[in-house]
Amino acid sequence: MTQFPLPPGSTIGVLGGGQLGRMLAEAASRLGFDVAVLERDADSPAGRVAAKLLVAPYDDPAALKALAEASDVVTYEFENVPAASLETLMALEVEVAPGPKALSAAQDRVDEKTFLNSQGVATVAFAAAATAAEAAEAVAKIGVPCLMKTRREGYDGKGQRWVEHVADAAAVFEALGARPVIVEAPADFVRELSVIAARGRDGAVVAYPLAENHHEGGILRRTLAPAATTPQLSEQADRIAAKVLTGLGYIGVIGIELFELADGRLLVNEIAPRVHNTGHWTQDGCEVDQFEQHIRAVAGWPLAPARTIAQVEMLNLLGEEVDAWPKFAAEPETRLHLYGKREAKPGRKMGHINRVKPLR
Ligand code: AMP
Repeated sequence: MTQFPLPPGSTIGVLGGGQLGRMLAEAASRLGFDVAVLERDADSPAGRVAAKLLVAPYDDPAALKALAEASDVVTYEFENVPAASLETLMALEVEVAPGPKALSAAQDRVDEKTFLNSQGVATVAFAAAATAAEAAEAVAKIGVPCLMKTRREGYDGKGQRWVEHVADAAAVFEALGARPVIVEAPADFVRELSVIAARGRDGAVVAYPLAENHHEGGILRRTLAPAATTPQLSEQADRIAAKVLTGLGYIGVIGIELFELADGRLLVNEIAPRVHNTGHWTQDGCEVDQFEQHIRAVAGWPLAPARTIAQVEMLNLLGEEVDAWPKFAAEPETRLHLYGKREAKPGRKMGHINRVKPLR
């Protein structure tokens, strides 16, 4: 069995080679670790900064075996890793963090909300459906307008549609691919917030201050953090984070997306069992950012306090927006984070900037 804390010089395996993996690898290397990445694409953002790269599908048995042999602990940078891959790794007796409970809760929107409610964490009202007839029943039960989403594999607003009339339910169900769905009541939110939090191997929980998020076309555009809040709102977020992390027996950083209602209550929209785009502000706004915090957690190191050093406006650079890098590089208050992706497709996350101001 692996002994924790992992000493510097150990290897951290990462499933997935995107920008989150790249920033995890950078943080890991600062602490003296090597990173081994398993990724399908031979030319990925994380693959190019990793000490070891395995190019294969995420469920390739030989590649998973090689990753297990190379790594002292394995983590992942996206939640659609096949659950069976984690089982394969665990059967090979390598530590995996976060564990399979978090992954399965995050992969299925019905299981996710059922878990949250079981922990006393509030969500919108919801109903599950697997056929067109059940979808019509679910819409009638929840009421219109409501949101129909595929239970699995939705991200950045994909795989979801509003339903305006009960009579439309079956057609929307078909348009979503006639796959199992969740029907959600609308959240009448005043703001979308998120809390990034971590739980260590010793059970300690650290939550960063709330971030305020703005989406466009389902994609995160802008984060303002620390968000303007009241102590009550921050305490509510901290309580939610502690319940979720403890309930999952979680190890690592999690992103929890929240709706703030007019009466001050917070509902959880979804949980992402990984470092999160709405936590990128911590790179320039906190003493220790979410990437280092995640590496500390999975390596069994003490978590760092979530101390804030600056006010940050984070803007995602999507597609060709990244071509403006010379302008951003010339702004004294702007920190530029680019992912090294070769091709700027529309909507693709190419990088982000953190505009930094002194704390208010
Ligand atoms: P999701 O893919 O579930 O994160 O949803 C993407 C975005 O759709 C969220 O950030 C919200 O802006 C919106 N949204 C999702 N679920 C609801 C809901 N139940 N009520 C209102 N808006 C929602």
